[in-house]
This record gives sequence, structure tokens and C-alpha cells, in this order.
Amino acid sequence: MVVVISSPPCSLSPFLRQVRNSRTFVCTSIRSSSSSSSPMEEHPKRVVVCGGGVIGVCTAYFLAKKGACVTLVEKSSVACAASGKAGGFLALDWCDGGPVSALARASFDLHRSLAQELDGQQSYGYRPLNTLSVSITESPDPPSGSKSSGNSNIVPGWIDGRIRSSRTIGTFETTAQVHPHLFTRTLITKAVESYGVEVMIGKLESVEVEGGRVRSVVLEGGRVIDSDAVVLALGPWSCKLELLSSLFRVYGLKAHSIVLEPKETDAITPHALFLSYHPSQGGKPLDPEVYPRPTGEVYVCGMSAEAEVPDDPEQIAGNPESIQMLKRVARTVSSHLGEGEAQVKAEQACFLPCTDDGVPVIGEIPGIQRCYVATGHSCWGILNGPATGAAMAELVLDGHASIVDLSRFSPARFVGSKKALV
Ligand SMILES: Cc1cc2nc3c(=O)[nH]c(=O)nc-3n(C[C@H](O)[C@H](O)[C@H](O)COP(=O)(O)OP(=O)(O)OC[C@H]3O[C@@H](n4cnc5c(N)ncnc54)[C@H](O)[C@@H]3O)c2cc1C
Repeated sequence: MVVVISSPPCSLSPFLRQVRNSRTFVCTSIRSSSSSSSPMEEHPKRVVVCGGGVIGVCTAYFLAKKGACVTLVEKSSVACAASGKAGGFLALDWCDGGPVSALARASFDLHRSLAQELDGQQSYGYRPLNTLSVSITESPDPPSGSKSSGNSNIVPGWIDGRIRSSRTIGTFETTAQVHPHLFTRTLITKAVESYGVEVMIGKLESVEVEGGRVRSVVLEGGRVIDSDAVVLALGPWSCKLELLSSLFRVYGLKAHSIVLEPKETDAITPHALFLSYHPSQGGKPLDPEVYPRPTGEVYVCGMSAEAEVPDDPEQIAGNPESIQMLKRVARTVSSHLGEGEAQVKAEQACFLPCTDDGVPVIGEIPGIQRCYVATGHSCWGILNGPATGAAMAELVLDGHASIVDLSRFSPARFVGSKKALV
């Protein structure tokens, strides 16, 4: 059977229209419509990946690179949610000693090789950077513009707030960054142009199963896409799909961020900051993060709370108080980031996909052959996207993952803890 993936009846964003137009893709599926045993049993070729965040895009990229015929279904636009609004901080060994350690280490290395392959330095701001832990006190007066006495030698000059203490927690060897929106978009563009991935804008409604095996996905409006395997990478929206929510809980932790463009971009050095921030009115210290980017922009994030995930990713708006707080953090840290010295380029919020046990869910769904899930990456999805995608591609196409042992992440761990699947 020959399946021609033609333009969907739904609209495409200008970006996707551009990448779609670069190639008309014809996919030959060898899955027979007859009931005889299918060669696909051994090696699935036609894979639908649902969700155009970093996890779905990395999965689509590695699947297609390994030879699968991949359709990526995204309901809004690629990297419209957390994967476009995250910090993009990467760490080699910060997850050591925990369940994600091997995944993180493999992914950190993959980021480095992807950056070489895709010219990541130019195309998505990949760079190693130093990382500091800084304890800082909010002051009613703006920073003086010169280093305060508490600032040690490791703190660069642009950080001129009232520092209590500081220490190095990452170096060029162990910490790095990407611009997450550009990273995800660069990867999907490469996947489309070089490996024939088809991007389809549409909302996944359901997964059709026949004889205990995936058969197709159904999109809003009734469109059906036949497939030999399906990967569900819906981030915090995983909880909206009954197939997943009946097995385990994924909830959204809403977090805020702002992007500033200081006038004096040259003053800002490649130092990521993990703050212990003491507000002037007292109370518990906050833990915002500050990431200067090679573009000259400075990204500041924090202020998280569990919240209901709205259906439409484009409708996610920040709480004004949280945004104000991040602006206070920025101007406390540096005189270069205060009003009049820096332009606010974005005020935004998005949701971390979290699981009850704090461990990502990556693997085949119990009871449904060739239906896979990859979600729950919490605050490390940009770091862990590449290894998750590469491992998922191996699992789907080869039946096992060699890059990382995925057994710890299997959704089977939830069987019995919630209403069991049929
Ligand atoms: C403020 C903030 C800062 C962060 N900083 C970092 C960092 O520095 N480093 C790091 O490693 N991680 C960071 N993270 C975490 C990281 O952003 C997430 O773990 C990661 O983006 C999750 O990716 P995802 O693909 O699972 O989900 P998402 O990015 O949420 O993507 C899910 C996609 O699925 C689509 N979708 C949902 N439902 C459907 C449907 N029914 N049909 C079709 N498509 C659908 C959505 O539209 C969306 O595009 C940060 C997160 C936040 C919030």
C-alpha cells in the first residue's frame, strides 16, 4: 500500500510551510491492509510521533535518521511550549547518583556532537559556559555599577548586586547551553530536509488499537494516519489523553521567564547563575536562574507553582506578580539588567511535565504493542531530549535501546498503581 502524505486540511505556520514546501514526501508503507502477518512485526517503518516539543522532535529526528518514515503531529507549532521557552541549560553530571544520571550524561555528549553536526554554535547558540551558585540580597537601592565587597574573584563585573556568597558549580567541561527554541527548530528543519520527516499540524484525538497493537492515530476533525508505531511525546498534555492518564499521572508545574536585552551586551560574560535570592521583605529565599545567551540576551526564570494546563499552548500567560518578581531579580543581580538599561523582549510562562515519582516515562505502553510514550522530563527536558530521542528510536526500530538502559523509565512501573489498562 502506498500512502501519500498530502497537505493536511489544517493551517500551517509560516515556518512549517517553509520546511514542508522544501520537500513533498511519499512514504511507502509495507504494512498490508490484509490480516496476514505483517513484515512490520519485525521492523516498524512508518512511525507517527505526536507532540512537537524537544522530546517529540528529537525522537522524530533520530527515528528518521535510522531510516523510519516519520510523521510528526503537533497541535500548535513546533517548540510552542516549554521547549521554546526554557532556559536551555545543560549539565553533564548534575543528575549523577539519581535515576536520570546515564540519560543525562549520554545526552550531554549527544548535544556536543549534534552541535558539531548542525553548526549549533551559529544556528542555536550552543556553547559551554561557567556556572555559579550565588546568594544575593535584594536591596531597595539599585546596584552601584561596581562590584560590592562580597563579590569574590569568580564573579564577573556585570554581577554587581549585594552578594553574600558565591561558588563555582560548573565549568566549560561540565556545563553548556542552547537556545531551546532555535535548537528544537533547527533539529526539525534538518529532520525534514535531510531525512524526510513530515510535519503535520493537527491535534491527536486518539490512538486506534487492533488486536493489542497500534494501528493508526486519529486527529481532531477525523483525519486518520495509519502507522506501525506511535510515540506519544505530549509533555504536560499527556494527562489529557485517557490512554496515558489511566496509567499514570503527569502534571504541569507552571514556571515563568523573562528575556532581557541589555544595552551593553559586551559586558555580559558566559556565566549561568543559580541564585539563592533573599527578598528585601524577608521570607524564604527564592531560587531563580539567570542565563546570558550568545545573542546578548539574558534569560531569567523561576517562580513556579502547580497549575492546570490549558488546552491551547498559545493561551499560557504569565502571572503579572511572578513576572514583576523576575524583573526585580534581574535588576538586583546587575545594573545592566535594570529598567532603562535593558529592554524586555519577552514575558512568558510554560509548564514542566512532571510525574509523581519524579522520573521520566519512556517506553512501550503495557498492553499496547508499538505504542510508546516519552514524557515527564521535568526541568531537564532540553538536556535529556537527544538521548531520549536516540534511545526511543532504537527501542521502536530495533526492539531495545543500547545508548541508555530504559528499563528504569518504563511505564510498566505504574501498572497496578492506577486503574489498569485493558
Ligand atoms: C521556565 C522553564 C525553564 C526550563 N529550563 C530548562 C533548562 O535550562 N534545561 C533543561 O534541560 N530543561 C529546562 N526546562 C524543562 C524543559 O523545557 C522541558 O522538560 C521540555 O521542554 C519538555 O519537552 P516536551 O517535548 O516533553 O514538552 P513540550 O515542550 O511541552 O511539548 C509538548 C508538545 O506537544 C504538543 N501537544 C500537546 N497535546 C497534543 C495533541 N493532542 N496533539 C498534538 N500535539 C500536542 C504541544 O503543543 C507541545 O508542542 C525548563 C522548563 C521551564 C518551564
